[in-house]
Amino acid sequence: MSNEMEQLRVQMDDVNLEILELINRRAEIVQQIGQLKTKQSIKRFDPVREREMLDKIKDNNNGPFQNSTLEHIFKEIFKASLELQEDDHSKALLVSRKKKPENTVIDIKGAKVGNGNTSYVFGPCAVESYEQVAAVAESVKSKGLKLLRGGAFKPRTSPYDFQGLGVEGLQILKRVADEYDLAVISEIVNPAHIEEAVDYIDVIQIGARNMQNFELLKAAGDTNKPVLLKRGLSATISEFINAAEYIISRGNGNIILCERGIRTYEKATRNTLDISAVPILKQETHLPVMVDVTHSTGRRDLLLPTAKAALAIGADGVMAEVHPDPAVALSDSAQQMDIPTFDIFFEELKGIENRLK
Ligand code: PEP
Ligand code: MN
Repeated sequence: MSNEMEQLRVQMDDVNLEILELINRRAEIVQQIGQLKTKQSIKRFDPVREREMLDKIKDNNNGPFQNSTLEHIFKEIFKASLELQEDDHSKALLVSRKKKPENTVIDIKGAKVGNGNTSYVFGPCAVESYEQVAAVAESVKSKGLKLLRGGAFKPRTSPYDFQGLGVEGLQILKRVADEYDLAVISEIVNPAHIEEAVDYIDVIQIGARNMQNFELLKAAGDTNKPVLLKRGLSATISEFINAAEYIISRGNGNIILCERGIRTYEKATRNTLDISAVPILKQETHLPVMVDVTHSTGRRDLLLPTAKAALAIGADGVMAEVHPDPAVALSDSAQQMDIPTFDIFFEELKGIENRLK
């Protein structure tokens, strides 16, 4: 290689390092601006400011690059800077593992969710009567379990379908919880009901249809009750995490995330269980993650295989619906387990749980 070429290459390397230093210096300034913008709740992307910067660059351009080329290069730098600010933002999320590396463990009347043991939530889709809930409670109790579910406010696709017993349903849950020493989980759909509901239930469920009901998320975040937050029907993982952030940002960090299937073009199952969401949520957040095998599949024959998958992939818990007589259930009749089926399901799942230990 000629001497001249070598010298030019040395110069080139030096310039590269200078550019490197300069763009990193620029990135530091960008981060400082990002912090100020966060404090002031100002939007990060500012097209007016970008235009001003590009114009200034072009006004000072003495070549050999054409303005259009420079505009392209600087737009890339701006874009990378914006991403850097967004990274900072996700680092700052209170639910993120970056913020808190250790797992959040939630204590529900002594039952620990997220402590490394598998938690189970079973119960009917909807509370229909004291006798119906008590029959399931009896079975849950006999298995040494603590968490019982049952919907009192049912968000139904059709307004003509059974909407739940409302407060009367919560009262039934409370009575059963007291009699069987269980903890109850029930969905609340209206922020105005939260205050009253916390007297009756141990965990507030926020359902898929309400995952982005921000007023409801805030109201749940204003309590100190554990919240079981279900993933929205078409929510991305990022939207799901941000929904949890709404709750924790109000001071309530007792949040269980629940993957319950998402809407896809597939018709073989009611929804498509996004099983890989479980390890992603576990990596990205410090919150416990459960899998609802009933609503994700909508099929009784898939409850056990999907529950096994949930345990194998590292879920902290499994939720499934159990009804003493599913054929006459007022909702989700096709997918709830009767009690003998539940017994077999649980026994098999326990076997898997023990083998995975
Ligand atoms: C439920 O768990 O009762 C329920 C309605 O589920 P989802 O909100 O996930 O549809
Ligand atoms: Mn249901």
